[in-house]
This record gives sequence, C-alpha cells and structure tokens, in this order.
Amino acid sequence: MSRKKIIAGNWKMHNTPQQSLAFVKAFLPLVADHTRDEIVLCPPYLSLATVVEATKGSNVMVGAQNMHWEVKGAFTGECSPEMLVESGVTHVIIGHSERRQYFNETDDTVNRKLEVALEHGLTPIVCVGEVLEEREAGLTEDVLRRQCSRAFRGISGKKAAKLVMAYEPVWAIGTGKTATPEIAEDAHLVIRGEAAKAFGDDFAHALRIQYGGSVKADNARTLMSQPDIDGALVGGASLDAAGFAKIVKY
Ligand code: PEP
Repeated sequence: MSRKKIIAGNWKMHNTPQQSLAFVKAFLPLVADHTRDEIVLCPPYLSLATVVEATKGSNVMVGAQNMHWEVKGAFTGECSPEMLVESGVTHVIIGHSERRQYFNETDDTVNRKLEVALEHGLTPIVCVGEVLEEREAGLTEDVLRRQCSRAFRGISGKKAAKLVMAYEPVWAIGTGKTATPEIAEDAHLVIRGEAAKAFGDDFAHALRIQYGGSVKADNARTLMSQPDIDGALVGGASLDAAGFAKIVKY
C-alpha cells in the first residue's frame, strides 16, 4: 500500500501574523502544483487565523503546535481543541520534545491530548523520540515503545484512523545532526510495531510516520525514500519559503 506522505513545517515561536502572511504569499505559488503529498504549516497560535485565511482554497493545510485536552475551563494561557477546529485548523502537533522538555508534557498528557484531538476530528501528529543519552545507552527501542504504548493507551483503532506519528530523535532537532536513513528506518519500524500491537496490522500498515530532526532540502529525498518514512516534520528549514518548498518537492 502506498501511503500519502505528509510534510509539515513547525515554525515554533517564529513568525508574527504579518510575517506569516508574507511567508504564505511567497510559499503558495511555489507548491501550487504539488498534489502528491499533504502539506501542512504549523504557525504559532496567534498566526493561525492569518495562515488559515491566506491558505483557503489552496493545497496547504494548517496545524497548531499544541493544544489543551480540555474543551474549556480555567486554564490560563491555553488553547482548546474546539478553538482550533472553529478557526479552520486541521492538524495538531502533540508531544513535541520541546513541550516535553520545557513545559512538562508527559506520556500521560500526550495520551489525553491525542484522545481529545481525535474526538474533535483533528489530525494529530504525535512526536516520539529518544534523547542522546538514551540512544548512547542502547535504550532507543525501549523509549519509543514506552512513548508509543502510553500515547495509544485506551484509544481504539477505529477512532485513531487519522493518527500521524513523527519520529523525532531529540539529538537531531535543531542540531544539524540528521539521523541516518537507516537509524530513522529502524526507529520507524519500532513505532509501526507498537501501532500494530495497539491497533492491529492493517492500521499499522496504513499509519503515516514522519521523520523530524534537521531535515533539509539536501537530505529530504534520501530520508523519504526509506520504505517506512512517510514524510517529514521540519523545524528550522521550514522558516524559509523557498527552502521549505524545495523540501516539499524533494
Ligand atoms: C522540529 O522542531 O520538529 C524539528 C524537527 O526541528 P529541526 O528541523 O529544526 O531539527
């Protein structure tokens, strides 16, 4: 089965609404003819509405970088799944390593967010990946198995159809040290294996798993030609419209 690749740009805390608009104006013509893959831009919350408006009718979709698991309530500074959906957002990144590292995101909160994102019809991009010490200690497989099984806990395969996973080795994020295609492929097989355990073989076979970690125009093709790499989650290199378009068209 061929899986449609999904290439998403995670802008992190970059691009004001005006800067986001300028990006979209430059980016859309560069990828307008590209229907082979799913293209997603993930701006910061405050730029979401601008990017949704500017991409309307195009082949580019919009994702948030995070969300809360509650629909409403006394959670100062948070954003709910309902707010995202009503704003025209279709995707949401969950459990990015920067959220885990700086904002106390845990396997448990990832699980809660995943469940709620699916309930609201969002396409969740769930990030998993080991830190350097874990890789050096030979723990990569254990870490991936734990992060996946906890993320999937209590969720039915029927509900999870839209799930997208992202393998993001933390040592490769923003460091310029891209995982080799072989390292990434091995990790993707582990993630697919956990999806098979949780949701069955057919589900796992159809599951899209992105690679993220210093993806650039010059390594995108080699990475994405691995059999189990179904796209890319791109941070730094997604901030330049022409550069990100090159990655999309790898
Ligand atoms: C990311 O933020 O998800 C990421 C992979 O960053 P970078 O591409 O800059 O390594």
